[in-house]
Amino acid sequence: MVKPFLMGSDSAENYLDIGLKILREKGTALDAIEQTCRAVESNPDDHGVGLGGIPNLAGEVTLDASIMCGRTLGAGSVAHIKNYLHVITLARKVMDDSPHVLLVGDGAELFAEYNGFKKTKLLTPYAEEFYNAFKEKRLHELGPEYDQDKGYLREDEQDYDTGTWFNLLEPHMRGTVNVMAMDINQNIATAVTTSGTYLKLPGRVGDSPIIGAGNYCDNRYGAACCTGTGELAIRNGTARAVVAYMKMGMGPTEACEESMKEIQEIVEIPTMNVIAFNRDGETGGASTYREILYYYMDHDSVKVENRKGAWVKK
Ligand code: ASP
Repeated sequence: MVKPFLMGSDSAENYLDIGLKILREKGTALDAIEQTCRAVESNPDDHGVGLGGIPNLAGEVTLDASIMCGRTLGAGSVAHIKNYLHVITLARKVMDDSPHVLLVGDGAELFAEYNGFKKTKLLTPYAEEFYNAFKEKRLHELGPEYDQDKGYLREDEQDYDTGTWFNLLEPHMRGTVNVMAMDINQNIATAVTTSGTYLKLPGRVGDSPIIGAGNYCDNRYGAACCTGTGELAIRNGTARAVVAYMKMGMGPTEACEESMKEIQEIVEIPTMNVIAFNRDGETGGASTYREILYYYMDHDSVKVENRKGAWVKK
């Protein structure tokens, strides 16, 4: 039997103990990942998830999320949510209490309202100033606290019309959290929640709420979740592909590498990451553009373990 464990991408590092506590008390993988994601969504200093997310080009913060159950292959997701914070719980509600998998925009918000979710203003003063600075092209005047974000447009960028600005964004100008777990009953579950790419076009939805693209799991084979340029994971069906490769006999790292190679082949500057585990509890990850780290805790962990994935170069 595999010890209950959970793992996550960048933003999950400081929150995995929340899910671990649930797993240690014999709770479900679904509860563990949902509660971990909620904590990340509440962090105003994480500008790629929930509260404090950087807005789209119209100045609106819009959230996407999905959750999947590996035992039933049940899934729920929501996209383009403007007024509710805990989109992971909303996605779970779609899975548990609706006949559908994906709800978007106004309809999803109506579903939230009917189900008693509380409206929340998602735009924080930092995110608003970031957006205003982008619009006014005077980021440099805002002071040292913006230093880390000064590089959000490449140097050659002068005119961010909607045809060119997207490719000019630095790779770190977005964020997402992946949280994946196996519980004491050996059930697997996966969750992804995000405010998506900074300064995206209004209406844009990334891979995070697309089952098979940013999120997939199946008790029989394993789990995979993505971060990075969502368009690439949608075009490649990345999370589903990784789980299928594990079904065909690859280990998690090899399966992640294979999916990143596919992306390398189709785009010039790919910026994609995937993390995975199989039903034996082996973990892996790969990225097309960096030394990827992911975070792991199991039943016996005293602290978060940083694990290294593969960097798949051209
Ligand atoms: N995958 C997310 C999206 O495309 C962004 C990210 O992971 O950084 O919306």
